[in-house]
Amino acid sequence: MTFLDYAPAPESASILNLKSEYGLFINGDFVPGKGESFTSISPATEQQITTVSCASEADVDTAVVAARRAYERTWSKLSGADRGKYLFRIARLVQERSRELAVAESLDNGKPIKESRDVDIPLVAAWFFYYAGWADKLDYAGLGPAPRSLGVAAQVIPWNFPLLMLAWKIAPALAAGNTVVLKPAETTPLTALLFAEILQQADLPPGVVNIITGAGATGSALVNHPDVNKVAFTGSTAVGREIARSTAGTAKKLTLELGGKGANIVFDDAPIDQAIEGIVNGIFFNQGQVCCAGSRLLVQESVHDEVVDRLKERLSTLRVGDPLDKNTDVGAINSASQLGRMRELSDIGEQEGATRWSPACTLPDKGFWFPPTVFTNVSTSHRIARDEIFGPVLSVLTFRTPAEAIAKANNTPYGLSAGIWTDKGSRILAVADKLRAGVVWANTFNKFDPASPFGGYKESGYGREGGRHGLAAYLAPAAVSSRGSSRSSSASSVKALRGGTK
Ligand code: NAD
Repeated sequence: MTFLDYAPAPESASILNLKSEYGLFINGDFVPGKGESFTSISPATEQQITTVSCASEADVDTAVVAARRAYERTWSKLSGADRGKYLFRIARLVQERSRELAVAESLDNGKPIKESRDVDIPLVAAWFFYYAGWADKLDYAGLGPAPRSLGVAAQVIPWNFPLLMLAWKIAPALAAGNTVVLKPAETTPLTALLFAEILQQADLPPGVVNIITGAGATGSALVNHPDVNKVAFTGSTAVGREIARSTAGTAKKLTLELGGKGANIVFDDAPIDQAIEGIVNGIFFNQGQVCCAGSRLLVQESVHDEVVDRLKERLSTLRVGDPLDKNTDVGAINSASQLGRMRELSDIGEQEGATRWSPACTLPDKGFWFPPTVFTNVSTSHRIARDEIFGPVLSVLTFRTPAEAIAKANNTPYGLSAGIWTDKGSRILAVADKLRAGVVWANTFNKFDPASPFGGYKESGYGREGGRHGLAAYLAPAAVSSRGSSRSSSASSVKALRGGTK
C-alpha cells in the first residue's frame, strides 16, 4: 500500500523577515542589553533562529524607570476610551500579521502550525479585543466606582504559549491603566520581539510596554525591583513559591499561574467517540506542554478496556513531525531539558510498575521529540500520577463510583483544571461542584475564551486571568490605598501556597 505525500503548508519560514540580532525593547526602541546575548533555536531542527540580548540588572532598572515615567506622564492620564483605542489597534495588527506570528511561534516553540495558526494567534487577537472593550468600563469591573490602576506591572511568562501568555498579561494590565515590563521565556522570545514591532506600528506611547529578554536571573531582578507595584507570573510552582516568598511583606500585588495535574473523568455513559477526541486534545495538544492538560485520565472501570483500545487506535493516526507542516498533530518538545524530564519521569513510571505504550512512529533524527505515550495500570501513588510531566504522557487510572472519581481527581497538590464526560447534566453539575479545580470542562477540554476566568487552587497558584475577574489583578478599589491592600494580598498569598489552600 502506498501513502499519499501531503503538500507542504504555505506557512513556511520564508515568509519571516527576522533580524539576525534583537535588542531589548525599552522606551519604544530596541536597545542592546548589557548581559551576555543568547541564541534562540528551533526545537525541531536545533538550528539557530536569531540572537537575543540578555537584560542585566541595570537594564531591568532602565526598563522599570521607562515604565514608571510612561505611567506618570502619559498612560495614567489617558481616558479609558483612548487606552481602548490602542488596544483595538494592537488587536487588528496582530490579525494583520497573524500568519507571520503563527510561523514564528511554531518555529521558536515547536508547536504544530495548525495550533499556532488556528488557536494561539486568534486567541491573542481575541484577548486584546476583549480587554479593549473593558478599558472604558472599569466602573463595572466589580471593584466599585472609579477603581485605580496599580502602576508598573512586572510580568514573567513561560514558553508553552509564548504570545498567548503575553496577551493574557499585557491586555488586562493596559486596559486597567498600568504600564508593563514583560520578560518572555528564554527559549521562546521571538514572538514577543515581533510583538514589540507591532507596538511601534501601533504608535503606543514609549515606555508603556517594555519587553526585556533573558533567563531566570533577569526575571528575578524584574520581580524584585523595588519600583514595581504588581507582579504577574506564569511558570513552575517552584519559581512561583520563590516569588511569593520574595514579594511577601512588600506592597506588590501578586498573581501566580502555576502547574497542574488535571483529571479528565470519563463516566460509563459518556459519548465515547467524543470523549476520545477530548482525551487526545486534553493531553496531546501542544505536546502536552499545557499547565491545564488532562494528564490523568480517570475512566469508569466498566468502560476502561473499550476506552483504552479506542484511544490507542486513535493515537496510531496522529502525525508526529515538522511543526510547519499543516498536517502535523504533534510537534517538537520545546527544549532538551524539558525532553529530559519527560524521559526521566516515564522511565520512573515503568520502574514503578505501570504499563507503557506508544504508537509506532518514526521520530526525526535532529531536534527534541517524544512520542505520544499512554501508561495503564497506574495507581495514585505513582510519580506519573502525581508529578507534572508537562509532556505528551497520559496516565490512566480507574474508578467505580462518582465519589471515588471525585476523591481521586482531588488527590493532587494541584488544582488547575478538570474534565467530565457524561451524558447526564445533573452528574456534571454534582461532580463539578466537588472538584477542587479552577476550570472544569464538561464534554469538552482545553477550551479558552477571553471572557472566561482561568486560574488555580492550591499549588496551581492564585488570582484569575481572563474575564472581568482578570481585571481585578490590575486594579485597586478607589477607597482603599494600594499599599494596604497589596500588603495583605502578598501575605495571604504565601500562606495559601504553604497551607495548600486557596
Ligand atoms: P519556569 O518557572 O522555570 O520559568 C517560567 C518563567 O520564569 C521563564 O520566563 C523563566 O525565565 C522565569 N524564571 C525562572 N526563574 C525565575 C526566578 N527565580 N524569578 C523570576 N523569574 C524566573 O517554568 P518553565 O519550565 O519555563 O515552564 C513550565 C511550567 O510553567 C510548568 O510547570 C507549567 O505548568 C507552568 N505553566 C503554568 C501555566 C498556568 O497558566 N498556570 C501556563 C504555562 C505554564
